[in-house]
Amino acid sequence: MTGGPVERRSPRWPSAASSVVGVIGDPVRHSLSPLLHNAAFDALGLDWVSVAFPVAAGRVADALAGMRALDIVGLSVTMPHKQDAAALVDERTAVAQRLGVVNCVTQTGGRLVGDSTDGAGFVEALRRSVGFDPAGRRCVVVGAGGAARAVVLALAGAGALEVVVVNRTPARATEAAALAGGCGRVGSEADVGGAELVVQATPVGMAAGGTPPAGQPASDARSVPFDPALLHKGQVVADIVYHPAVTPLLAAARSRGVETVGGLGMLVHQAGLAIERWTGQPAPVEAMWAAARQERAAAGGR
Ligand code: NAP
Repeated sequence: MTGGPVERRSPRWPSAASSVVGVIGDPVRHSLSPLLHNAAFDALGLDWVSVAFPVAAGRVADALAGMRALDIVGLSVTMPHKQDAAALVDERTAVAQRLGVVNCVTQTGGRLVGDSTDGAGFVEALRRSVGFDPAGRRCVVVGAGGAARAVVLALAGAGALEVVVVNRTPARATEAAALAGGCGRVGSEADVGGAELVVQATPVGMAAGGTPPAGQPASDARSVPFDPALLHKGQVVADIVYHPAVTPLLAAARSRGVETVGGLGMLVHQAGLAIERWTGQPAPVEAMWAAARQERAAAGGR
């Protein structure tokens, strides 16, 4: 539905003519996704609305049946449902197939198409925020979980010279590094100093109030996942944790003159890619960024 401007404060809105998208997760009430989606719809002048649907673990099949029955156009998928969603959609993009997870479902012609936009969102955020193009660059990814795997695959896909995975559990590092094909390898903390891009993709440094991966507590907000003394000027350090905005790692990196990228950009750009999948229109990422920043400021700049 791509009608004219919508009076969002009208008691007549949303109406039966409004197109509905949403996010499913558990927990999901904290999710910024509806805010980002609705900011995009506002900027595009679309009669679309996004809402958060709490869906308990193990209920993704029901949620996707509801998506079909209610003609919901798109769903973002967050923890703990990304693997279940990958198994239950009708089709998966090549990236979703490689990763075995889906964070974005689009309903087209009654079929549910699953994609994984986290990695592409991360690379887009890097390009837009600090003009960093991974092509031909040496990259280190710290972490080997779902988010790290998406980043590894996307960096390799963007032409990185090398993608080194450093992780607490070696077996998971091996699996993640394999996603990068010939440019991937397992490394150690010592590789950090030689990288042009260092990506922090563990929950370490996330403050209480963020969303730790299922079964994990928010870590000590003072903690860093490797020794920041390894960092030096000329590198870019990206932390995919977005709460707080400046993690202890980013603060330490800045104090060494290192260029930094926070995790909010990845969130905004993966949401932008979802908007493009669902509406077929370019995402108004500036409006989405503005909404995210406004929300952060309202929350006290955390
Ligand atoms: P996950 O699948 O559970 O993976 C967690 C990874 O972090 C694993 O590699 C784990 O190592 C490592 N890890 C956890 N605690 C650690 C510690 N204390 N020290 C060292 N390594 C540790 O989690 P995920 O889904 O990838 O999420 C990771 C973080 O990314 C979360 O904070 C999440 O909120 C954030 N995230 C942000 C965005 C965004 O848009 N900005 C998107 C997705 C996720 P082992 O393998 O040894 O267990």
